[in-house]
Amino acid sequence: MTTTPCIITVAINGSVPRKKDTPAVPISVQEMIESTHEAFEAGASLVHMHARDENENSSSDPEVFRSAREGIEKHCPGMIIQYSTGARGRELASRGGMLDQSPDMASLATGSVNFPTFVNENPPSFIDDLAQRMLDYNVKAECEIFDLAMLYNAKDLVDRGLLKPNPHVQFVMGVRNAQPARREILEFELSELRKILPDATWTAAGLGRHQLEVNHWALELGGHCRTGLEDNVKFDKTRLAKSNAELVARVTSLCPEYRRHPATAAEARAILGLTRD
Ligand code: ZN
Repeated sequence: MTTTPCIITVAINGSVPRKKDTPAVPISVQEMIESTHEAFEAGASLVHMHARDENENSSSDPEVFRSAREGIEKHCPGMIIQYSTGARGRELASRGGMLDQSPDMASLATGSVNFPTFVNENPPSFIDDLAQRMLDYNVKAECEIFDLAMLYNAKDLVDRGLLKPNPHVQFVMGVRNAQPARREILEFELSELRKILPDATWTAAGLGRHQLEVNHWALELGGHCRTGLEDNVKFDKTRLAKSNAELVARVTSLCPEYRRHPATAAEARAILGLTRD
């Protein structure tokens, strides 16, 4: 039986505080590398990472990104590495400061939106500058769609030459104060995506208790999946996830039901046009 590959992204750490209830969130570079390696073995082919400082706060320290990347490249051959340029706790000017390392990918939120307790602030000129930096350093953007307008903003970036015509788009659902995790919304956005960016690839992420149901929707609708402790520290209603690998393994186990299989790193690179010589 032939099956269609699904790129499983593992969002290893985000800005989740590692209090006693979330011991599995990797903070140090060594922890990031080990957690990513386990997730890679469980089926992840793309890692989305944030840098954290010794107080566990979000950081823009380029050395953290560089060291984590080096370790991951060594232990997880071919795995796609994506740096976060996300807003939380960081100054605008520093959020793209590590793109000169030319990681495979970086996240690019294409608009501003309220998050649970702060504004995910992405002014138009800032988005343009970040997109231009990604072009300059040959970094593929993953457009983060937290609300409907951001989808059309991505198209606008393509029209203005700031994004290549085959972007990778991620629908993020279930962040409080942003778009909810409703299948009708995802289906509508997909129908729009096919009209306005027919060459785009897509993935979806559900936050908190929505993580698993959004994984199911994405597998069924032909997209790619994101999981990981950044989005959800629980495995189910009764217990915390043991690790990023456990959440990845859950998606891997769902794949056959939808005639999918976890993409190998090489398959993921081919799908995203990231083959390098
Ligand atoms: Zn993130």
